[in-house]
Amino acid sequence: MPEGDSLVRLADRLRPVLAGRQLERTDFRVPRLATLDLSGARIHSVRPRAKYLLMDAGELTVLSHLKMEGRWEAYPRLDAAGGRLTPRWRHPGWQARCVLETERDQVVGFQLGLLEVLPTAGVAERLGFLGPDLLDPDWADPGGADPGGDLLAEAVLRIAAAADRPIGLALLDQRLVSGIGNIYRCEALLLAGLDPHRPVASVPDLPGLITLTRDLMRVNTRPAGPGRPAPRRTTTGVAPDPTAPYGVRVPGAGTAGREATAAGAAPPSGPRPGRGREPHYWVYGRRREGCLRCGGPVTVEDFGDLPGQDRTLYWCRHCQR
Ligand SMILES: [Zn+2]
Repeated sequence: MPEGDSLVRLADRLRPVLAGRQLERTDFRVPRLATLDLSGARIHSVRPRAKYLLMDAGELTVLSHLKMEGRWEAYPRLDAAGGRLTPRWRHPGWQARCVLETERDQVVGFQLGLLEVLPTAGVAERLGFLGPDLLDPDWADPGGADPGGDLLAEAVLRIAAAADRPIGLALLDQRLVSGIGNIYRCEALLLAGLDPHRPVASVPDLPGLITLTRDLMRVNTRPAGPGRPAPRRTTTGVAPDPTAPYGVRVPGAGTAGREATAAGAAPPSGPRPGRGREPHYWVYGRRREGCLRCGGPVTVEDFGDLPGQDRTLYWCRHCQR
């Protein structure tokens, strides 16, 4: 399952290709939408909402969810001299669910877990079940005058209401707070030192945990620059800070992360990264390498209670109490 930051990056990638452009041809390759034709409609926005991608075209919105295997790719239809190109897809044609074509580009959704087209006016209701989106642009900047504000308060209320639920499950429940996937669940709980099985009611600083998770996600929404790919997702660019929630500060700047890691968030006793490879996570996926913080073994278990989730929980019994 994607994490919310992937959707922010995806929307950033597709926006310059689609926004403001008129659709010349569309092809919806799912039975329910097979006769739909959006040609002539102009795409006026491409936006993420939690783990959904929304493309508003005319009065309608193309709503998609990547689930496990889904991806959107953009292919130019014109070469540098303005000649016609035939896009060569990176995935087999039978995996294509949606083709959107403008004069200049072709955008293809492959293996989408969900594809719907609905009136834009109905989107808020359709997605009304989602809890506050951690990457909602209305969420104030960390360190700003109102770090969180109403959205944070609402997320805290919703999670706190699930008092008996293990925090490791509550964080994945998109109805309580949305955008968090398995990677950030594992990483935020490691950095906070919280056993994922603890009931929500016993979490000492719920607003702090949500803020920490959001900050980790937010620094990973940095887009690709001209001629360079988007940086790989990582949660290790954090710095010790006794005034921050759980003593962990997430520097927001692009380059600060690397320095902060070197400055000592990982204690000297922790295993050193392999030659030429920076570790990207503290505990997620580190079954063999061990916990980056203490060097101890990582416990891997199946821990999820909602269908379609990536349930594989990674955690450290030593660091998480
Ligand atoms: Zn550990």
